[in-house]
Amino acid sequence: MANSRTTKTKTTTPSKGSTARSSAPKGKATGTKYVYFFGGGKAEGKGHQKELLGGKGAGLAEMTNIGLPVPGGFTITTEACSEYYEQGRKFPAGLDEQVDKALAKLEKVAGKKLGDPKDPLLVSVRSGAARSMPGMMETVLNLGLTDQSVEGLAAKTNNPRFAYDAYRRFIQMYSTVVIGLSKDSMEAMLHDLKHYLGVANDTDIPAESLKELCNQFKAFFKEKTGKPFPQDPKEQLWGAIGAVFGSWMAEKAVTYRRVEKISGLNGTGVNICQMVFGNKGDNSGTGVCFTRDPNTGENVFYGDMLINAQGEDVVAGIRTPIKLAELERLLPKANKQLYEVRKILERHYKDMQDLEFTVEDEKLYMLQCRTGKRSPAAAFRIAADMVKERLITKEEAIQRIMPEDIERLFYPVIDPAIDKKRLEQAQIATGIDAVPGAASGQVVFTAEEAEALAQSGKKLILVRKETSPEDVGGMHVAQGILTATGGKTSHAAVVARGWGKCCIVGCEAIRIDYTKKQFTVGDKVVKHGDFLTLDGSAGVVYVGELPLVKPELPDAYQTIMKFVDQTRTIKVRTNADTPYDAENAIRMGAEGIGLCRTEHMFFDTEERRQAIQEMIVADTLEARQAALAKLLPFQRDDFYGIFKAMAGYPVTIRLVDPPLHEFVPHEEPKQRDLAKRIGVPFEKVKHRVEQLHEANPMLGHRGCRLCITYPEILDMQVRAIIEAAVKCKKEGIKVLPEIMIPLVLDKKELAILADRTKKLADSIIKENGAKVNYMVGTMIEVPRAALLANEIAEVAEFFSFGTNDLTQMTMGLSRDDAGRFLPDYVDEKKAGVFKDDPFQSLDQAGVGLLVEWGIERGRETNPDLKIGICGEHGGEAKSVKFCVRAGMNYVSCSPFRVPIARLAAAQAALENA
Ligand code: ADP
Ligand code: MG
Ligand code: MG
Repeated sequence: MANSRTTKTKTTTPSKGSTARSSAPKGKATGTKYVYFFGGGKAEGKGHQKELLGGKGAGLAEMTNIGLPVPGGFTITTEACSEYYEQGRKFPAGLDEQVDKALAKLEKVAGKKLGDPKDPLLVSVRSGAARSMPGMMETVLNLGLTDQSVEGLAAKTNNPRFAYDAYRRFIQMYSTVVIGLSKDSMEAMLHDLKHYLGVANDTDIPAESLKELCNQFKAFFKEKTGKPFPQDPKEQLWGAIGAVFGSWMAEKAVTYRRVEKISGLNGTGVNICQMVFGNKGDNSGTGVCFTRDPNTGENVFYGDMLINAQGEDVVAGIRTPIKLAELERLLPKANKQLYEVRKILERHYKDMQDLEFTVEDEKLYMLQCRTGKRSPAAAFRIAADMVKERLITKEEAIQRIMPEDIERLFYPVIDPAIDKKRLEQAQIATGIDAVPGAASGQVVFTAEEAEALAQSGKKLILVRKETSPEDVGGMHVAQGILTATGGKTSHAAVVARGWGKCCIVGCEAIRIDYTKKQFTVGDKVVKHGDFLTLDGSAGVVYVGELPLVKPELPDAYQTIMKFVDQTRTIKVRTNADTPYDAENAIRMGAEGIGLCRTEHMFFDTEERRQAIQEMIVADTLEARQAALAKLLPFQRDDFYGIFKAMAGYPVTIRLVDPPLHEFVPHEEPKQRDLAKRIGVPFEKVKHRVEQLHEANPMLGHRGCRLCITYPEILDMQVRAIIEAAVKCKKEGIKVLPEIMIPLVLDKKELAILADRTKKLADSIIKENGAKVNYMVGTMIEVPRAALLANEIAEVAEFFSFGTNDLTQMTMGLSRDDAGRFLPDYVDEKKAGVFKDDPFQSLDQAGVGLLVEWGIERGRETNPDLKIGICGEHGGEAKSVKFCVRAGMNYVSCSPFRVPIARLAAAQAALENA
């Protein structure tokens, strides 16, 4: 391997006569500028040219231009890298000339020459793409040293220890990084030397021994490559440049880009930069820092430094670094310079920066700057503080926050302090990350057990193949939910998301055995009662009870969200089915309920479950009405509670939606039990359940179709809604019910149900002598309804786009089953048909077209038509932005996503302005 690398470098290195130029006829016109100089206070490149110069190159150019102390150098563009590959790993024509010119300029600015035996110019060769990327080539420092020039350096600095330390580092880095020789072998030689000398630190090795180590390294090089260590600095330079380009396609880098979905980049830039020396003695050192604390966001200088050290020593853990605060005592002059730089850079970039610097004989040099990564809490704090400091505007602060920042701010996480080994050992499976956050508890396999055990205060993880509405009670009491099947819009995912409850779905590796009360993953067995920890953010399942921490909401969160609410132009509502959810959503900033699903109310208690089942099993109108009469008070109480919690905010209530078979038991023992409880023969129950069976229930007897067949269900629900509203009115509580009829596909269908609704509602209002305003509208979730929106709007007073079903029906993709193959459609390496899962992020090109059409046509009929969205997409940032552009009045999403929707709506308002 080492040898192949050597030959590759060799063949691609243009020698004096430049074979590259003659063999590169397909290159761009020779006019292309491949090399950008920086030094002497001026740079050819600019900070915004990250694509061309790479992040590091752009940062070096920008720092040079604003007058910071950056050692001189030049950047070879990412374009040169892409041409290198286009031409079959050959340097583009003209590159060698441009490098020669830039090098000559650097030599002039530095006052030293590369390879000068008396006073050599040394450089570092560093990779750097537009996005920072592990797997790219590591930096080579001190390039230009040879057996001759090292003596010159020693004499010139009067510091042979330093000179030979620099040389041994160079030989080590060149051999391992450029040629690919074993790092461990060379580290072992260094280690043996220290052991032999009886010293602990690199800095304690005397010059003579370092010189001897250099000889050992060179001998090792010759033994492994069959060639002497290169003594021509130009050969060294081109070898390093070729290795940087080569690293762009190294497996590590390619894999990283694939995993992170990074595409469309040219390649890597190469930065050649004059060396400054932190390893010259106790007046020198090297460090890394952040202009603010990246964990808390506090406005304090934050970083580490190592005295008498070079390059990565500070992060390599060779010696314990000192805190930045100590620099003032140790090197006050450099400390002052560094504080000055911090101020200048923050004013310039108007954001927290991540810096690398070196101090040589008390003089500071800047070697890198980039926008610093930060925790979610720090993101809020920094943005809010910078508005206060007048560094940025409120609008800029809003645009700085990422939707994930908000998400991660609320959910508990596995304690980041946990030992990585322990974490690795505990991991047993991965699934689809349906709802973020972490949870731990004891395994249970049925919802009933969960409900029973939760009574005694146990923390539980409900593990199911899949969940159904019957499981809701058990799901609610569990800490987290794990299912073997399903995707991000499966029943488990949707319900759990509503509560912000940690949930992993589609965990195909687990084999559940309900009778043995255990599941297996390979040969590992997890039994009922064993502890599990779920990381819903990553979709990882761990055995055991791992420690969790709940992040605290920073004050800055409130500050930023106030800006957000002042900026956005549409409302944000929530999907909530209970007074508890409604209150929670209000705290999250919801301004109404966009979707209240009434059927969840039927499962809340045994009494309710029995009443709905009785209604379904009934075979006469009278029997049905009698059962419905039992449900009426429950629904009325729930609506009353929700109206009260929403205190005058609009509440959209969807009439019963799922097919009736979802409400009845399918196993014989449960059917027998039901039959006994409601006093009906078992055979009749069984027969009725069989009758309800549908081959394709998603397209079956559900939604408003149920009320066309059984109008008495509509009557009961409308009565419950209006009577609750009347009660509120009488108590002086403001109410605004919006009665929503689901799954409508035709104007006449809607008209039948809307007329019945209004007649009944008006008569109840009149009977009570109250004054209640209400609206009747529809969900747009069948493509036909979107297409005929102009007709439907003649009857509907509002539209709510149910984009879960609309996506399912437009794309012909089953929400419940698509999880099996949809990942292939999203995976760029497989089919890559879609960029995102269309059930998570609205398919703007296809389904979005129907939405836009529906809005436009609906408003043609009724310009005041109130329009919103209530699918899962209402809480996904990109989809929310689409809804703003499409002209909706509001979006609605689960309570925990309300802050994300608020932020996205504000960002969309700024983007559209
Ligand atoms: P990375 O991308 O891993 O940060 P860098 O190119 O920034 O790699 O360099 C690695 C280390 O070498 C850093 O500590 C950096 O400060 C140091 N370094 C790079 N160039 C020079 C130079 N010209 N003089 C002194 N130190 C340097
Ligand atoms: Mg760096
Ligand atoms: Mg629907």
